[in-house]
Amino acid sequence: MRDAYDAVIIGAGHNGLTLGAYLARSGLEVVVLERRHEEGGGLATEELTLPGFLHNVHANYHTFVDMAPPVKDLEVRTHGVTYIRPEVQMASVFDDETALVVYNDLDKTCESISRFSAEDADTFRRLYLEAHGYVDLLLGTLMYQPPMSVKELTKALASFGIEDRSEFLGVKLRRETINWFLDKHFTNPKVKAHLAFHAAICGYVNDLPGLAIGFPLLIGKIDNWHLCVGGSHRLAHGLWRDLARHGGVMISDAEVSSIAIDSGRAVGVTLSDGTQISARKLVASTVDVEQTFLEMLGETDIDADLRGKVKNDIRHQKWSLFSVHLALAELPAYKAASFEPDVDRAWVVNLGYGSPEELNVDFEAIRRGRLPGLAKPNAAVNSLYDPTDAPPGKYTGLLRQFAPYSLNGRGPAAWDEIGRWYASQCIQAWSNFAPNINEKSILDWVPYSPADIPSKIRNMVDGDWMMGEVSLDNMLDRRPLPELGQYRTPIKGLYLAGSTQHPHGFITFAPAYNALQVIAEDLNLDKWWNVI
Ligand SMILES: Cc1cc2nc3c(=O)[nH]c(=O)nc-3n(C[C@H](O)[C@H](O)[C@H](O)COP(=O)(O)OP(=O)(O)OC[C@H]3O[C@@H](n4cnc5c(N)ncnc54)[C@H](O)[C@@H]3O)c2cc1C
Repeated sequence: MRDAYDAVIIGAGHNGLTLGAYLARSGLEVVVLERRHEEGGGLATEELTLPGFLHNVHANYHTFVDMAPPVKDLEVRTHGVTYIRPEVQMASVFDDETALVVYNDLDKTCESISRFSAEDADTFRRLYLEAHGYVDLLLGTLMYQPPMSVKELTKALASFGIEDRSEFLGVKLRRETINWFLDKHFTNPKVKAHLAFHAAICGYVNDLPGLAIGFPLLIGKIDNWHLCVGGSHRLAHGLWRDLARHGGVMISDAEVSSIAIDSGRAVGVTLSDGTQISARKLVASTVDVEQTFLEMLGETDIDADLRGKVKNDIRHQKWSLFSVHLALAELPAYKAASFEPDVDRAWVVNLGYGSPEELNVDFEAIRRGRLPGLAKPNAAVNSLYDPTDAPPGKYTGLLRQFAPYSLNGRGPAAWDEIGRWYASQCIQAWSNFAPNINEKSILDWVPYSPADIPSKIRNMVDGDWMMGEVSLDNMLDRRPLPELGQYRTPIKGLYLAGSTQHPHGFITFAPAYNALQVIAEDLNLDKWWNVI
């Protein structure tokens, strides 16, 4: 390790690695510092159960890899990263043993929806096609540029002609819930339940006012889930390879404890073992705002007002994810396959939500620190589409359940007591719909609770897997605070480039890509990449 670099980046998640690789390709001497023993952050793939079973501990579904500029600019696919877009993307199975299936083929999806409501199938087709007219363009403008204000977004939408063309993105959407949108456009509760679940698993909870604005984009991308072959961690390796190939360095087991400030400028960092590293041009943090401002900076480094806001006003998701990772000897055989055989080929299956109201009730409970009445997780089997993630003839399974971080006022530590019991409830829920998922076919299983999330990835404060609430007040240029919404900070040379920033968490690469644009302006870098 040298004692000085041009750019010092804190955190080697996909955002830290992405920013590092771009800056290294721009000729800067770059170091990316990671507190864990390996790079990747949320891109962790581990043999949690038995040897040869590869479990994606966090990010499993990568939606934006076909449109994110860094995937092309950093030649990620030449670094051993391969994606599959599964043919049968996601299904919902219901208590009456019916199933609705979303394919990567619109006609087939509409055919499945029409078994519940022909009218809803037509509506879905219309909304999907309408969204496809502009979603990529809009998402490109919205996600891969420093954020606009809500007002500017309205103007942008108008210039796309969207408000004239459809009711999708009217001003009203910015005040309404996804439930409102679903009730306005769809009739069948099961169709609505499927769409509401899809939104929630993307972080957009259906009963929060204002989130209807994101729903058209969610419909447009509903069949765009990609699976990283060999495990999500392959993407982290790919980004790291690009960084290394261009002279950048990633150092693991290097926890940053403080940022050095000289005359109002960030000039380096100190690691928790005391090692000091100077930054000639910039320091970029991709970790949580609280750590960056309250722990890494001294009390006098930022003004008291901003410090107070970071302490009191940063908003985190009020719900988290409970996971169960399974090693399986059999593929699930759903009862609902007699109604819809393709449910057995679905990458992800939502278990048991028959209406958006059922989801509302569960989210209400979760926000009060309670477990949902019944476990209704979703179940993914990556091996259906990527046989390399398990030994021959075996399969890797994943259950994900919406859950609180802090339980009934007993705090997150209560997960240590109930984690295995709750995992068994989730497995039972799967078994109710797919009876061959039982003691015989399950070779091993491991729970991963909301409390485990920040223990492993400390920047996911309170199990907040999105690194900041997804709500209208915490979006665009207001994320994470209006003062910090443009990737710059009041300290010269200190930037924010992680999921705390616009657009939000997920494997989008967008916070890093957008921070890059700002850094390039400040350092007068030649923009060799394709600017959106
Ligand atoms: C259970 C779960 C399921 C998820 N599922 C999905 C999914 O299916 N699809 C999807 O797109 N997203 C998913 N996510 C979200 C996704 O993982 C995150 O949005 C993404 O990892 C954020 O990337 P990042 O680079 O901003 O931050 P991170 O990936 O969190 O990387 C930040 C890095 O900084 C390191 N760090 C923290 N503090 C320090 C310090 N002081 N010094 C040095 N390094 C430090 C951390 O160890 C970490 O490696 C999931 C998350 C969880 C928890």
